[in-house]
Amino acid sequence: MAEKRTELSELGEFGLIDRISQKFKIEGKTSVKGIGDDAAVIDNGESYTLVATDMLLEGIHFDLSYMPLAHLGYKAVAVNVSDIASMNGTPTQITVNIGLSNRFSIEAVDALYEGIRMACDNYKIDLVGGDTTSSASGLVISITAIGIVDKNKVAYRGGANLNDIVCVTGDLGGAYMGLQVLEREKQVFMANPDMQPQLEKYDYIVQRQLKPEARMDIIHELKELNIQPTAMIDISDGLGSELLHIARASGKGLQIYEDKLPVDKQTYDTGYEMKIDATTAAINGGEDYELLFTISQEDFEKVKNHADIHLIGYIHEASKGNKMITKGENIVDITAQGWNHYKG
Ligand code: ADP
Ligand code: MG
Repeated sequence: MAEKRTELSELGEFGLIDRISQKFKIEGKTSVKGIGDDAAVIDNGESYTLVATDMLLEGIHFDLSYMPLAHLGYKAVAVNVSDIASMNGTPTQITVNIGLSNRFSIEAVDALYEGIRMACDNYKIDLVGGDTTSSASGLVISITAIGIVDKNKVAYRGGANLNDIVCVTGDLGGAYMGLQVLEREKQVFMANPDMQPQLEKYDYIVQRQLKPEARMDIIHELKELNIQPTAMIDISDGLGSELLHIARASGKGLQIYEDKLPVDKQTYDTGYEMKIDATTAAINGGEDYELLFTISQEDFEKVKNHADIHLIGYIHEASKGNKMITKGENIVDITAQGWNHYKG
């Protein structure tokens, strides 16, 4: 009899992670938070240690025909620092695992590590170890970041309270729109190698895709403003997906307003040119690595005029669902399109 075979696409990434986590109970006294947040939380006595890890695969997460290796190294660190930031923490160390095929030269590895070194300098973290293996196909880079947070300052996905304000930093959709431009220019180049890519007009969104920054500046500012986010997550998969994570983990619903979503003019203009709706890019695009967090109403005055923190909605009862009020004043459900790499 043939064994039962279930396709990965039936579960998707989040379903698969749920399935794995159901099989593991947290047993150790020092394991405060396991699977299910941006980083694991470990009690070190005085404070909490945070651990986050992310793996990037050539052909899935990056394309070396337009991603310079130094940028890739930088981004691989930044995305992990972003997960530490989203716990309201400060990164301290990283380890780096790479798998290399014989396509790569010493100079290529040097370039990758130059980017990693720049990120270590910028985020003030030490590279303290890793592993190096050969890979049958392409480049694999997996980074683990370790960080620290005061026990009473840690921010989980699940802490949002009724009437809390939903905040997002920076602007959204740019990284996705930048990727569309890079893909288009690659197609043009492949069809005619004499055509050089025209990217000047798209400098901001291309940079959003190739060199994202973790918002450690916001973490420091929140501390200075004496604001404790009630819930926080970073935007890797897309605003829609991350909103639903916060709502689900907090046992609440939420409402946001389309006209409050921060979208850069270049994102908007490129969307117009490429017939991609800017709001769709903002909600489903992903890879912006901005922070999404909730604060209590008492903190409203402290952020209401902040140039880089945007108030996009509020938390309500779970029974009211997760909704967006559109510019045309329609109410639509927020959905998580995110990235499903298993869709084939
Ligand atoms: P993020 O987008 O913030 O990197 P993920 O969606 O990748 O978060 O992961 C969500 C949670 O699931 C995290 O706690 C992560 O550590 C955990 N997780 C992801 N993949 C696995 C796996 N293969 N085994 C165990 N835990 C996993
Ligand atoms: Mg995250």
